[in-house]
Amino acid sequence: MAKRDYYEVLGVEKNADEATIKKAYRKLAMQFHPDKNPDNKEAEEKFKEASEAYEVLSDKDKRQLYDQYGHAGLESQFGSGGFSWENFTHRSDLNDIFGDGFGSIFETLFGGGFGGGRGQRSSNRGEDLQIELSLTLKEIAGGTEKTIKIGTKEACDKCGGSGSADGNTETCSQCRGTGQVRQVRQSLFGQMQTIAECPSCRGEGKIIKNKCPKCYGEGRMGKVKEISVKIPAGVEEGQYIRLRGQGNVGPRSGARGDILVLIHEKQDDTFERDGNNIVLEYPVSVSQAVLGDEIIVPTLSGSVKMKIPAGTQSGRLFRLKGQGIQGLNSYSKGDQIVRCILVTPTKLTKEETELYTKLKEHDKKREMKPGKSFLSKLREYFS
Ligand SMILES: [Zn+2]
Ligand SMILES: [Zn+2]
Repeated sequence: MAKRDYYEVLGVEKNADEATIKKAYRKLAMQFHPDKNPDNKEAEEKFKEASEAYEVLSDKDKRQLYDQYGHAGLESQFGSGGFSWENFTHRSDLNDIFGDGFGSIFETLFGGGFGGGRGQRSSNRGEDLQIELSLTLKEIAGGTEKTIKIGTKEACDKCGGSGSADGNTETCSQCRGTGQVRQVRQSLFGQMQTIAECPSCRGEGKIIKNKCPKCYGEGRMGKVKEISVKIPAGVEEGQYIRLRGQGNVGPRSGARGDILVLIHEKQDDTFERDGNNIVLEYPVSVSQAVLGDEIIVPTLSGSVKMKIPAGTQSGRLFRLKGQGIQGLNSYSKGDQIVRCILVTPTKLTKEETELYTKLKEHDKKREMKPGKSFLSKLREYFS
C-alpha cells in the first residue's frame, strides 16, 4: 500500500505552523486512541500513522527532509523498516494530550506493542465500565473532585466471591487444573501442537460442583457504589480518566476491570471557552465608551473591577491575565478576554432625546471615514 502524505494524514496545509500540527494530531490521537477503540486494528493503524506524521512534521529537521525528499528522506531516521514506536519521541506530548492518568497508552504502546498486554489478561478479569461526567466551566478551570454513582459487580457477600456454596472447588478433570488443553493435529509439516483454554473450566482449572445459590456460581453481584474522582484542571470534552481496578470484579474473584470517566463539558451561559482562555462579551453604553468608566466584570472566580478608558471603541478587547483556565498538566493559566460591545439605546426619555439631538449637531462637525472593518485586527489579537 502506498504511504500517505503526512500533511494529508494530519489534514493540514503544507505551510501549517507548529500549533496547527499539534492541534491536528491531538484531534486524531483522541479519535483513534487505542483505549477508546479496544481491539480495533484499523484505529490502531490510524493512530500509528498519525503519530508517525506528527513525529516528522513537528520536528524541524525531519520535516525539512520530508519536504525535500518525501518518505525516502526519512529512512536515515527511521531505518529501512520505516517508522516504529521506538522512533516516537513525543511521549510527553501525548501526556499533554491525555494527561497523567489518561489512558494506559504507555503500557499498550511501549510495553510489547498493542494487544499483547491486553491478550495476557486472565480470562476472568472483570469488565471495564464507562461513565460520563458533566462538568461546568468553573469546575474545569480549577479542577475539582466529584462523586460518581455507578453500578458495578462486586464480590458476592454469601460466598465471598468464590462462587461455591460450601467453599469447596474441585480440580478440573479435563485439564487437571492447568486451565489449558493441548491439541495435537497432523499438518503438512508433521504434528502440530496447539495450546488452548480448557473448555470445561474456561481456563480456571477449577470446577464448582456446589454453586452458591445467591450468585449462581459467578461469585459476584450487582451493586451501586459511590466513587470520588479527582478531576485535574483544564480537561476537555472527550477526554477521560481511567480509574484502575475500580470496575467490575471478575467472576470467582477474578481481577478487577477499570472505570473510564468520560469528560463532558457543560455549556456556560456567560463565558465561552477558547482553549485555556475564556471569552466574555460585555455591553457598554455610549456614554461609558465615550467618557470611560470602571466596570464590574464577572470572572470564573468572582467579579473584578476593570477600567475602560475614554474613547473605547465597540469590539475592543481587554485581557484579564490569569483569569482563564489552568492548563492541564502545566503551570500556565489562560486569560479572560473581555470584548466590550457598544449598546445603542432604543427607548429614550424626552430628556435623552434632547441630549442626543444636541450631540448629533456636534457630531456633524466630526469627520467619519468609511473603510475596512477591524476583523483582521481581531484575528491578530487571537493568534
Ligand atoms: Zn455467591
Ligand atoms: Zn479445565
